[in-house]
Amino acid sequence: FVRFENVQKSYDGKTLVIKDLNLDIFKGEFVSLLGPSGSGKTTALMLLAGFEPPTKGTIHLDGRLLNSVPAYHRNIGLVFQNYALFPHLTVQENIAYPLRVRGAPKTEVIDRSRKMLDMVRLSGFGGRYPNQLSGGQQQRVAVARSLVFDPALVLMDEPLGALDKKLREEMQLEIRHIHEQIGITVVFVTHDQDEALTMSDRVAVFDQGRIQQVDYPAELYERPGNKFVASFVGETN
Ligand code: ATP
Repeated sequence: FVRFENVQKSYDGKTLVIKDLNLDIFKGEFVSLLGPSGSGKTTALMLLAGFEPPTKGTIHLDGRLLNSVPAYHRNIGLVFQNYALFPHLTVQENIAYPLRVRGAPKTEVIDRSRKMLDMVRLSGFGGRYPNQLSGGQQQRVAVARSLVFDPALVLMDEPLGALDKKLREEMQLEIRHIHEQIGITVVFVTHDQDEALTMSDRVAVFDQGRIQQVDYPAELYERPGNKFVASFVGETN
């Protein structure tokens, strides 16, 4: 479904921040990219989203070579840590935005954005502005907006990084629940071992631009493939 094949990435023409990425992500899977700061997780997402071109190698989505497909034609939803909601638009308008830019008919825009509001449990909040919401609520709006146009997959980069521990755990469950409800493929970047292990179907452990191991959470924990994985995954509390 998603296939990274022999992908390398350098920003400066010298240092490879992604050294040799090979990864398959299957339809409907929840896969986390887990690793320390600077290990190349965000870069991998940027390549998949189309914000950066790979220096070498190929990326396919549903059998289609993505390398020369511009970001806005990839049909991929995005959620970032800092929400990136439009402050001058209401919650409802924020959620509807991806449909509007795609020229969807008005009834569909209203219908879909209402459904998404319900799904993230913000039905009464459509008329509010982002600054009138809590951090968790803002992040729910961002999740709803990323899903409203029925993308092929959704990429989340540390979406819960700005939330306190309790809210973070609540949102982990909620995102997982939404994933199960609609069966969407999710690629989720985090440096938090607990988060990756509890949320994911599979976890790809990154270090220094390479995947050290891709496996089911229990396997990673019980049978780490090398010292790095053992110590990094073992840091869970
Ligand atoms: P973090 O969790 O801190 O975001 P990460 O694992 O996501 O880390 P990346 O953001 O992918 O790592 O960064 C990998 C390397 O690439 C780092 O050394 C970083 O400095 C470098 N890098 C990232 N983006 C750029 C850019 N736009 N231009 C130049 N170098 C970059």
